[in-house]
Amino acid sequence: MKFSTDPALATRLDADDEFARFRDEFEFPTPPDGAAESIYFVGNSLGALPTRVRGAVTAELDRWGNLGVAGHFTGDLAWADAHRLVAAPMARIVGGSSDEVVAMNALTINLHLLLVSFYRPTPQRHKILIEEHAFPSDHFAAESQIRLHGFDPDTSLVMVSPRPGEEALHDEDITAAIAEHGDSLATVLLPGVQYYTGQVLDIEAVVKAGHAVGATVGIDLAHAVGNVELSLHDHGVDFATWCTYKYLNASPGGVSGIYVHQRHLADESLPKLLGWWGTRRETRFEMVNVFDGPATAESWQVSNGPALQMAALRASLELFDEAGGVAALRAKSMRQTAYLQYLIDELFEGRVQSITPDVAERRGCQISLQIIDPSIEGQLVFDRIEAAGVFCDWRYPDVIRVAPTPLYNTFAEIRRFVDLLAQALEMPGE
Ligand SMILES: *Cc1c(COP(=O)(O)O)cnc(C)c1O
Repeated sequence: MKFSTDPALATRLDADDEFARFRDEFEFPTPPDGAAESIYFVGNSLGALPTRVRGAVTAELDRWGNLGVAGHFTGDLAWADAHRLVAAPMARIVGGSSDEVVAMNALTINLHLLLVSFYRPTPQRHKILIEEHAFPSDHFAAESQIRLHGFDPDTSLVMVSPRPGEEALHDEDITAAIAEHGDSLATVLLPGVQYYTGQVLDIEAVVKAGHAVGATVGIDLAHAVGNVELSLHDHGVDFATWCTYKYLNASPGGVSGIYVHQRHLADESLPKLLGWWGTRRETRFEMVNVFDGPATAESWQVSNGPALQMAALRASLELFDEAGGVAALRAKSMRQTAYLQYLIDELFEGRVQSITPDVAERRGCQISLQIIDPSIEGQLVFDRIEAAGVFCDWRYPDVIRVAPTPLYNTFAEIRRFVDLLAQALEMPGE
């Protein structure tokens, strides 16, 4: 598509937007004092509130009030099966079957539970490969799992880095590192989309390389789920987990999801940390002390699920199905990101740059900007755009992350953001 800096183009792009009606499904924060509007570009951190989540959560409170404990087993929304109601819609988003997916706990806890099953080090094969700039939680999870098994992170935690002077990883550097560690590598743990740069990694290539050396491959989908198309089953990913409060808009700290590949579901030799909720629902309440789990991801469950969070997730996932799925949304997202990138390149040459790959397939909603104009501090620019009503974030050391999302952001907001960024840059330094 041919873009221009003319604001009328944004109006035209919005007029042609087949997803425009979804914006009315969301609520946006009040602008700060003195700002004309809020531009919510931080769905990569906490998605905006879908109004229907209010109704779904209130309905659960009513059920609780009216039914009390009977709510666990009464009606279509019985809490005992709350996780089942979200399995199919989540499976569609990650490219798996309902049996391979379950909603439970929170992301980092789930990383630990999955590593218990899929990181089984031996003296010969004991390494976990992560990226150097992994989200701290992922790094801590890998490090502590290594220690738990009596190994030393200094020798067992290996990292793949961007090349000197670069920010994004090269897919071929990742696969080369996997091959290099070879049969000393137990597990590969990488993101689907890198949180700092917004880079999309080649999951299929990572899995192929990992399996070629006999390692298990796990993917952290925190920034990928609801953002880019995923084919976990077809790509052969062993395990994955994600949070639902970023692009899935399912409430702050909302319940997480896990994926375990079909080929592992019936494997009774896999160690798991067990709880009653992992047993078959048919016999769970017989309360016998012999673990009998189903051959589905549900057997990784430990505790009964959080009904209010499940309801929020169920309601928020409806929007993805109504929009026709992530693949449909992705086409708009690519247009939005390309438009934003175009405007940055056109208007801020030498002053602002993106560290996100500029190839559509290698990035999702997020563009990570650096202020390279030496006459002004990046942090000051961030403070000014924030005060002007832009919701985005600052990530240490020097990146402003902005993530227009196709469900609720408009092209006009992207155009307006660029104006506010220009104003922030041209104001005299303080
Ligand atoms: C957001 C995010 C997390 C957050 O973990 P929680 O357990 O949900 O607090 C972890 N890892 C990555 C890569 C993230 O982007």
